[in-house]
Amino acid sequence: MIDLHTHTNYSDGTETPANLVRNAVKAGLRAIAVTDHDTFDGYRAAVEPAREAGLELICGIEISSRLAEKAARPTHLLAYFLSGLPSTAFEEWLAQVQQARRARNERMVLRLQDLSLDVSLAAAESLGRSITGRVHFARLLRDQGYVTSIDQAFELYLGDHAPAFVPMHEPSIEEAIQQVRAAGGLPVLAHPIRLNITPPVAEEALLVRLKEAGLLGVEVYHSDHDPAVAARYLGMARKLNLAVTGGSDYHGEAKPNIQVGSGKQGNVQVPYAILQGLRALRDHHSSVARIAILSGDGHHDEA
Ligand SMILES: [Zn+2]
Ligand SMILES: [Zn+2]
Repeated sequence: MIDLHTHTNYSDGTETPANLVRNAVKAGLRAIAVTDHDTFDGYRAAVEPAREAGLELICGIEISSRLAEKAARPTHLLAYFLSGLPSTAFEEWLAQVQQARRARNERMVLRLQDLSLDVSLAAAESLGRSITGRVHFARLLRDQGYVTSIDQAFELYLGDHAPAFVPMHEPSIEEAIQQVRAAGGLPVLAHPIRLNITPPVAEEALLVRLKEAGLLGVEVYHSDHDPAVAARYLGMARKLNLAVTGGSDYHGEAKPNIQVGSGKQGNVQVPYAILQGLRALRDHHSSVARIAILSGDGHHDEA
């Protein structure tokens, strides 16, 4: 078995990369992908422990993106780089995404300070690491006694219509998909159930739209997907010819009911053949790209 969706303490998990590797080996897994939010640092730190443990390690990432212009919550896009870390161009794009997030957080700190709330960016970043955002400021406000709950922090200060609100600038999901593809990665829509789209025909329409934008796969198996939900996404993936992936979304003690490799009470079981399928897909796309270059049929920028 394998697990293609795990987090370390470089994003919002609690385990170090070395401990994640240890837990994966203990669970009897043959391969895992580290898919921290908007950073490869956890993957980088897992390379050596995985090599020593004889565990296959896949380079992955979970990108926060925007499905619609005014989306309230980010949409997660998984990306797999089966040949290892992507190009520096992709890392530069990622650094820009992180810079935009940091600039937003700096503005939020200033607004909170204007409201006489003593909150620092460093304290929020120690909670949120690669994905520091409003919820981490809410926790600080609660922990510092300015509010009694996270909800109250949003109501009084951080919510969309509250005085310290600063809009977020995540990349659109189409931009994220395109960046992943340009870097030779496989973009996969993460845990589609969390998008709360009904009815299923509307979910399928979204997959069609994202496939046209370059999406290559769907996360069919996930701790939040019960068997009926997984079967629904499996059907859509087959119908639309999208790759099937799966993983627990392990976060260590931050989500103690989720086990690496098996999810919630064993609801995630991802066979090694899924990874072989992804490798075949990568080989297909890289040979298509090669043929395009050889025949001078590549995509050119117009103007
Ligand atoms: Zn996610
Ligand atoms: Zn995740």
